[in-house]
Amino acid sequence: MQIELTDKQADELLGQLVAGELPDARGRFGPFGGCYAPETLMPALARLAAGVDEHLHAPAFQAELGAELQDWVGRPTALTHARGLSQRWGADVWLKREDLAHTGAHKINNALGQALLARRLGAGRVIAETGAGQHGVATAAACARAGMPCIVYMGAVDVERQRPNVDRMLQLGAEVAPVTSGDATLRAAIDEAFRDWVADPEGSYYLLGSAVGPHPYPYLVRELQAVIGREARAQMQELAGGPADAAFACVGGGSNAIGLFHPLLGDRDTQLIGVEAGGCGAGLGENSATLVTGTPGILHGSLSLLLQDVNGQVQETHSVSAGLDYAGVGPEHALLKTIGRVTYESATDADALAALRECCEAEGILPALETAHAFADARRWAHDNPGKRILIGLSGRGDKDMPTLSKLMHAGEAPGRAA
Ligand SMILES: *Cc1c(COP(=O)(O)O)cnc(C)c1O
Repeated sequence: MQIELTDKQADELLGQLVAGELPDARGRFGPFGGCYAPETLMPALARLAAGVDEHLHAPAFQAELGAELQDWVGRPTALTHARGLSQRWGADVWLKREDLAHTGAHKINNALGQALLARRLGAGRVIAETGAGQHGVATAAACARAGMPCIVYMGAVDVERQRPNVDRMLQLGAEVAPVTSGDATLRAAIDEAFRDWVADPEGSYYLLGSAVGPHPYPYLVRELQAVIGREARAQMQELAGGPADAAFACVGGGSNAIGLFHPLLGDRDTQLIGVEAGGCGAGLGENSATLVTGTPGILHGSLSLLLQDVNGQVQETHSVSAGLDYAGVGPEHALLKTIGRVTYESATDADALAALRECCEAEGILPALETAHAFADARRWAHDNPGKRILIGLSGRGDKDMPTLSKLMHAGEAPGRAA
C-alpha cells in the first residue's frame, strides 16, 4: 500500500487539522485512522463516540475535569528554563514538565479524563491493558479517584519484568490479570482486554492509553493530552518571550507528542519534531521507529504506519525504553508526517542514555528513558541550528527506570560509573 498526497491536498488537510475539523465523522485523519474493529465491538465503539461527542466538551464535564486536573493532578505543570542545557548547547532551552504531574508522567491526563468519562457514561467498571505498567498505574490511580473498579490485563512475562508497577497497581486497588496466552506480553494483553470488553460492552469502559486504536480513541486521547500544548504555548509567550523555533517530543504510540504538537500546528514558524526509538540499529526488529521507517497498514483498529515485513507481518520491536517499544503509531502522526508538518527522527538507545545523563548533570532532573530520546534529538538539532529557542516535552520522570539504569551502571555501560 502506498499513500501519497499532492501539495494542495496536504495544505487543505493541515488547514482542517488546525481548524479542529479532523478526524472527520468517520474518524479519519485524511487517508489514515478510521475504525477497523471486529463486528462485535462496533456497537460499543459507536456508543463511545456518541458519548464523547455529547460530554467531552460540555461545560459540566470540562468543569469537573478542569478542577481535578488542577487539584489532583497538579496542573498547570511548570515550564522550566533549562539554564545548564542552554549553555551547553548554545540555545535557549525550555522544558514542559509533565514529570511533575501526579504519578510522574503525562499519562495521567488521559487516564483521569477517561475515568471521569466512564463514570459519566454510566459504566460500572473499567478495563485497561498495559505493557510496561505505566498506563496501568495511571489508570489504577485515576479509577480510585473516580470511584470506579478497574481490571488491568498484563502479559505474564511483563508482570514478572515490571513487578514494582504491578505492586503499585495493586496498592491503588486495581485488579491485575496476568495473561499467559500468545506471547504473554502486550499483544496478548490487548487481545484479552478486548475479549473482556466484547463480553460486557454496556457495563464496561475500555480505557486506552495512547493516541492509537479505532475511532474515537485517537481523537479522545489527543483532546485530553492537548492541555500540554495549550499550557506550553501560553507559558512560552509569558516566560520565554515568544514561541519556540522548534519543539521536540518522544513518540511511542504518540500521545504526549500529539498533546504538545496539536495546539502548535498553526504556529507555522515553529518546527515540530517527533523522536522515535532508534534502538540498537536500523534493521527490522532492532528499533521501534515506526514513522521513520514504517509503511501503511492496519493495526489495533486503525490505518496508520507500522513496522511490518513485505507480507504484512507485524515486526518485533526493540527499545531500551519500554514505553516506546511498539510497532504502531497513532494515525494523526501518520498524517502529520505525510503532509510534512511534523518531522520524525530517531535516537538510538546509546544516544538516549547519554542525553539522560546530561539532563541529570545539567538540570538536576532525571527524565524517563522515553523522554531522553527527545533530548538526544534536540541536542543534535541545536548543534545544527545555533542560538534558537527550543521547547522539549519532558513527558515523564525516570525513577521508574532505575532498575534498568542500575543494571547498566553496574555493567559499566553508562550512565555513571560502576560501584
Ligand atoms: C508511555 C510513555 C511514553 C510513550 O507514550 P506516548 O503515547 O507516545 O506518549 C513517553 N514518555 C513517558 C514518560 C511514558 O510513560
